[in-house]
Amino acid sequence: MKIIRLFLILFLFPVLACCQKTPILFQHVRVFDGVQVTPSADVLIENGVIKEIGPTVAPGNAKIVDGTGKTLLPGLIDAHVHVHGAETLEQALIFGVTTEFDMMMPPRLEYQLKSEENDHMASFLSAGNPATVPGGHGTEYGFVIPTLTKPSEAESFVDARLREGSDYIKIMYTAGVSFGPRNSRPSISKETMAAVIAAAHARHRMAVVHIGSASGARDAIEAGADGLAHIFHDPSSPRDFGQFVAAHHAFVIPTLSVLHAVCGPESAGGRLVSDPNLSPYLSRENINRLQETFPSARSGMISCRGGTQAVAQLETAGVPIVAGTDAPNPGTTYGASLHGELQLYVEAGLTPIQALVAATSAPAEAFHIPDRGRISPGLRADLLLVNGHPDEDILATRNIVAVYKAGHEVDRRKNSH
Ligand SMILES: [Zn+2]
Repeated sequence: MKIIRLFLILFLFPVLACCQKTPILFQHVRVFDGVQVTPSADVLIENGVIKEIGPTVAPGNAKIVDGTGKTLLPGLIDAHVHVHGAETLEQALIFGVTTEFDMMMPPRLEYQLKSEENDHMASFLSAGNPATVPGGHGTEYGFVIPTLTKPSEAESFVDARLREGSDYIKIMYTAGVSFGPRNSRPSISKETMAAVIAAAHARHRMAVVHIGSASGARDAIEAGADGLAHIFHDPSSPRDFGQFVAAHHAFVIPTLSVLHAVCGPESAGGRLVSDPNLSPYLSRENINRLQETFPSARSGMISCRGGTQAVAQLETAGVPIVAGTDAPNPGTTYGASLHGELQLYVEAGLTPIQALVAATSAPAEAFHIPDRGRISPGLRADLLLVNGHPDEDILATRNIVAVYKAGHEVDRRKNSH
């Protein structure tokens, strides 16, 4: 009997303690639900999910959070990063990014981190190894990755990626890039790209394409890509680009944060460093990374204008804009850069609400993750509580009060100094 009781205390109690989270009632809070704003509502979360919205009655043990003057948003989603380790997922979470879509990482690390996932790390999906040719973009990072050269290899290539655990397929298509960091590399052909996309679709998986030019973007869309993993850095955007992408029902992850580090003269990340709401949570290494640019930025030969124009065109044409940063490339860092990306969208012509959609409901919809990206009953309680009205002033997303991953309040002090 004693042994059984000891067993219960030692083993069962910690299990219950770990998974039974205190219900939380947010009272009188402004709610951006992923699509629209409700000026004042009560939101109850329980057992890691959103339970109820509206004037609601809390269970006796609920923690009450006064939401007066604050806005509750779905946890943010960064749809283009490269996950480098558990600490990079922890960093993202501290800045309110509760889910990340990785666009190339070693499958072994992907497997390890997915099996270690906990409430202190952002969740992630991953492309794993990308589809590229020998010597193509993706092969320059010092480790060997599989490659392919012709359409007949596409099916077995995609099967191998799915066996490794890829959630979707990423293709590196650099045709048409005449300057910048990737110009001297060979690219997968349009035909092989189309065959890889078809193979992914036949297996009910998505295919997203890295591009660097407007002509490359057009090729990828024509080949059937679900989305573009970047916008191009041409000096101007073709006039019909928005309509063209809309007609093909594709989405675009603009990654203006990394584009600004390519076109320069300064990275857009540099201005995040001086933001008093972000800087206390940035390490020296983060700051150095945010201030970095690519060598091309100093040449003055590449313009951010075409990419920025394209973002406005795409929004007008009704193309889903899906926010992504390409962290940790020069000029970017996990989490903090997503706030900078949203500011760049507003500067490109989006309303603050359209920018918020791009980092919440749009990525969840584009990547078919129905339990995230909105504040709605039954969804995972990934939430961001901020001071002010980010739907009116996008900079308010940085004024973070609290971050919740699956109903668990994140300890943000971990990264602070
Ligand atoms: Zn990338």
